[in-house]
Amino acid sequence: MTESLIANDAKKIVEQHLDQLGQPKAHILSSEEKQHKFALIADELKRQDAVLVAHYYCDPEIQELAELTGGCVSDSLEMARFGRDHPATTLVVAGVKFMGETSKILSPNKTVLMPTLEATCSLDLGCPIDEFSTFCDAHPDHTVVVYANTSAAVKARADWVVTSSCAVEIIEHLDSQGEKIIWAPDQHLGRYIQKKTGAEMLLWDGSCIVHEEFRSRGIAKMKALYPDAAVLVHPESPESVIDIADAVGSTSQLIKAAQTLPHKQMIVATDRGIFYKMQQAAPDKELIEAPTAGEGATCRSCAHCPWMAMNELDAILHVLQHKDQQIFVDEALRVRAKLPLDRMLDFTANMKR
Ligand code: SF4
Repeated sequence: MTESLIANDAKKIVEQHLDQLGQPKAHILSSEEKQHKFALIADELKRQDAVLVAHYYCDPEIQELAELTGGCVSDSLEMARFGRDHPATTLVVAGVKFMGETSKILSPNKTVLMPTLEATCSLDLGCPIDEFSTFCDAHPDHTVVVYANTSAAVKARADWVVTSSCAVEIIEHLDSQGEKIIWAPDQHLGRYIQKKTGAEMLLWDGSCIVHEEFRSRGIAKMKALYPDAAVLVHPESPESVIDIADAVGSTSQLIKAAQTLPHKQMIVATDRGIFYKMQQAAPDKELIEAPTAGEGATCRSCAHCPWMAMNELDAILHVLQHKDQQIFVDEALRVRAKLPLDRMLDFTANMKR
């Protein structure tokens, strides 16, 4: 069993991108303003035969709007499935760009709009196709498994796409077939899976700027204040944070853990956008934000993804009216990228049976 980390410039690329990122607007809507915007968007969704598909990390009002208008709020796997299976001819994907691309790959005949195409992901940014492809070419005896948080081009280079809700099971399956694996781009999730499955994996060294900020020492201090609290951790977090968790899992799995664990308090180490659905699912639990490295100059995210925060109500209305933030994927690339995505969807459909 081996695990080796592939060095690349992911961190530098992401830092440069963040330096250019504008700050999201801090304006808090009054209840009247919010209802007014909701009504305008709901009308427009109906007129355009569109449905809103939102990720758990979007701001609460976007999640609320998706629920109220018959859309969905979920993790990236369920977003992809929901968009594919919903009869609407237009999908408005509130999330980050790879989620819009995944929707387009699975639903080529639908119009896929996003509030902004500027919303990206440090994992996607840190895994450029040329470098990644060169690396894969150098290891032709490895099966290429990529996380959903990648571009369409990287997916097209892969044998499998996975999300954090099915990654362990898929790697276990591949390992049982004796396959050696290239894993990209999240090194922390890759290391977690490697530890759980014992699979032979080469890890790309990308990371999520949100989860990377969580620190075990800060969480231990918080545990001293809330000794009876459970610690819920997303596996994109550093290993030392995962090691002190009571539950480790994807966003959907963490929401389930908040419901089912007997603890009354939960220290939650993932993007704070999840609190909206987690509190709905576990109304009697007290949810506490896990501390980040933050409060100082090094924190670039402080438990909220700067790209997810770019999804705003005004931008949803604008894109429905103007269709100027639309996802297009080259057809040959789309067909190639669909293969590993379909593999994942088929595998997870069988997991459910
Ligand atoms: S929270 Fe992390 S993994 Fe998710 S979109 Fe933001 S940067 Fe990417």
